[in-house]
Amino acid sequence: MDVDPSWTGRSTLSHLEGSLSGERYDAGSLIGPDPVDGRPLLARYDLDRARETLTVESLAGRRRGGMWRWGEALPVADPARIVFLGEGSTPLVPASRLGGAARLPNVSVKAESLNPTGSFKARGIAAAVSRAVELGARAFVMPSAGNAGGALAAYGAAAGVDVTVVMPADAPEANTTEVLTCGARLILVDGLISDCGRISSQVAGAAGAFDLSTLREPYRLEGKKTLGFELAEDRGWRLPDVIVYPTGGGTGLIGMWKAFAELEELGLIDGRRPRMIAVQSEGCAPIVRAFEEGSRFAAPMEAASTRASGLRVPGSIGDFLILDALRQSGGGAVAVSEEAIVEGQRLAGSHGLGYVSPESGAAVAALMLLRERGLAEPNDDVVVFDTGAGTKYPSPPRLAEVEVLEADVDEERIRLISSRCDP
Ligand SMILES: *Cc1c(COP(=O)(O)O)cnc(C)c1O
Repeated sequence: MDVDPSWTGRSTLSHLEGSLSGERYDAGSLIGPDPVDGRPLLARYDLDRARETLTVESLAGRRRGGMWRWGEALPVADPARIVFLGEGSTPLVPASRLGGAARLPNVSVKAESLNPTGSFKARGIAAAVSRAVELGARAFVMPSAGNAGGALAAYGAAAGVDVTVVMPADAPEANTTEVLTCGARLILVDGLISDCGRISSQVAGAAGAFDLSTLREPYRLEGKKTLGFELAEDRGWRLPDVIVYPTGGGTGLIGMWKAFAELEELGLIDGRRPRMIAVQSEGCAPIVRAFEEGSRFAAPMEAASTRASGLRVPGSIGDFLILDALRQSGGGAVAVSEEAIVEGQRLAGSHGLGYVSPESGAAVAALMLLRERGLAEPNDDVVVFDTGAGTKYPSPPRLAEVEVLEADVDEERIRLISSRCDP
């Protein structure tokens, strides 16, 4: 889909900055993590200039631009380079039934499974592919255990570039099928996601492909940042009290925190910030562990395992950015069990959110714990993230016994079944 220039604004990208080193880099070339320390690079903008055109009124006139409505604070200079499949502008849906179950009447859900490719990975990949293509990249590679690989295959196809996705051999069929259907090259590795990462950087070296691994290039973060912009705008430029976010590499959480700082600098919000709650699986909870220990960096998790593939990130190079945001916001970190994740999916579905991903199930499971952990008060406005659709994952364990009837079942039997109480 082409983006009409009236749906967006002119980028005011000025330079890149080392997130830990503070070093300044030119934003005009394709670079990976900070050459000084291997930490993420952050895009910086001329927000004084952005403020002139990125206004409440101009935004209202850019309805059709999805996340590209925020063009002044996004990295792509030429709107013709934007690879747009409809990402962004997802609804923030009040979820009072779910809130009731959590004893928090003011819960809303950010419905990110409505993005192209069924997850919010679309935002990050759209920004990263668009900007890298603008800077001359014609081939991409990425290790992925699921949604990111599918999104890269789709956006790469839309941009007409070469894509290689490296996945563990036991990756779900829904994900491998998505990658292949979108015409990407698939490399399956008999190993873990960390092995895929190593092979991915070898492919990058051998084939001259640009590596889009999480936080190793600066622009996936910029796409995810639009989550924070939308939350502010949808709520009349007042942020919620609490944000519950299922955290893997942390792009979305770091991105929202960056978005809030930029919105304040743009004069669109005041200094009040939500308490940020990172949710992980007990099977892979490096951030929760580091938060509880009071460390600034997170030690990598050994033998990480969880059904929520987006949360299976044993170590993130953005660990300190996540932890800083949690602490500065007065928020917290919650680990939930694999059983609680399935129960969270069931609670989400039975309270009107549809069939959500295990990652979203983890967020819902954590939502149920906020009151007893003292992380939320009854009147707080709470936003919980549904980051992706459930249909892309292997089925959870059967939730109930379901009986199979003969096709010519008699009416008496139907009457009996229909009148039976719910299990
Ligand atoms: C990748 C992913 C996450 C984790 O996102 P980060 O921003 O990288 O922490 C959560 N949910 C789903 C569905 C994902 O695909």
